[in-house]
Amino acid sequence: MNWFRKLMIGRYGMDQLSNAMLMLSIVFLVVSSLIGSGVFNIFAMIILIMCYARMFSKNINKRREENMRFLQWWNPINLKLIQFINRARGGKTYRYFKCTQCGQRLRVPKGKGKIRITCPKCRNELTKNT
Ligand SMILES: [Zn+2]
Repeated sequence: MNWFRKLMIGRYGMDQLSNAMLMLSIVFLVVSSLIGSGVFNIFAMIILIMCYARMFSKNINKRREENMRFLQWWNPINLKLIQFINRARGGKTYRYFKCTQCGQRLRVPKGKGKIRITCPKCRNELTKNT
């Protein structure tokens, strides 16, 4: 990989924005093969070319600024996405309590109103609102 390192001297290289562009172009390629439309293929190629143009760019300050602007836009979305995935994974359907006696974590289904929970470890009974 010595030639590659030499090639990249003074050039910008990869960053989060280029990574995102790479992912997006892959998504477009998959979509294009799914729906059999060449339009998405063209989109994917354009994005790929832009991605490589950024990687080999020598205008490092400009590229850094682009990446920062991208992160300012993307980070809040990313956070919401993570929260959404976490909720979909069980945060929405379960509530977690701690046993008052032994500290055992208890998982109960949400939206059942007031229920009695028996701790599986120490048989302590709790009444909780779910
Ligand atoms: Zn307990």
